[in-house]
Amino acid sequence: MSTVEIQKIKFNNNSMSEFIDIFDSRIHEQEKTFVVTANPELVSFANKEPKYFNTLNHADFILPDGIGVVIASKIINQPLKERVAGFDLMGELLKKAENQGLKVYLLGAKESTIEKAYLNIKTQHPKLNIVGKHHGYIDVNDEELVQEMIRLEPDLVFVGLGFPRQEYWIENHLGKFKKGLFMGVGGSFDVWGGEVKRAPQKWIDLNLEWLYRLIKQPTRFKRMLVLPRFIMKVLVERK
Ligand code: UDP
Repeated sequence: MSTVEIQKIKFNNNSMSEFIDIFDSRIHEQEKTFVVTANPELVSFANKEPKYFNTLNHADFILPDGIGVVIASKIINQPLKERVAGFDLMGELLKKAENQGLKVYLLGAKESTIEKAYLNIKTQHPKLNIVGKHHGYIDVNDEELVQEMIRLEPDLVFVGLGFPRQEYWIENHLGKFKKGLFMGVGGSFDVWGGEVKRAPQKWIDLNLEWLYRLIKQPTRFKRMLVLPRFIMKVLVERK
């Protein structure tokens, strides 16, 4: 499978529809799959934190979530096909799961948020089989919850604990499950629960989703300073 390496992280170079087909077949083969959707913040963190870097090495797929990653790939002349936003991929996988009767587990966000997210997902996908849900304020080593999840045999597990906790959680527990696609979804439940608004499609099409988020959640400003630094590093490394 073709990959593009950006700051030591190997991104899978596929379009959204290709990823959906790949994941669809892996779910049906019951092949366990660890999916990371990585933005520049996550890549920068992995470059500072060896433990997290090592966790990402155990992922089966790392997807370019964030226009910064796509820009970086162009700078190094190995263009990634497109940005694959975790939220959009989750939406596509939920559609598949509903049509195919797959079992879904939702883990993450505040208790009230995950409840609202669950109801909104159910409204949009009435036939979807959500076998369980749990808020994300847990110890990443919480064994009781994991045993309960294993018993439910989910085909898809969406883990929204924010990075790095969601990837640590998946790495810690994936080995105990018999099957399933496990994907870190960051703040996606906040969007499903109506706590955070996704940027309007026009902003997304103009590659300005990051700006929309910055305006709506100014507290993210410090986190977002990573973006120009990330691009600078890529430029310097190219030389
Ligand atoms: N969160 C959680 N458990 C924690 C810390 C955070 O479930 O211990 C949730 C938080 O409520 C939010 C998500 O993880 O829903 C992180 O959202 P953020 O927008 O920071 O994630 P990003 O998409 O930037 O990774």
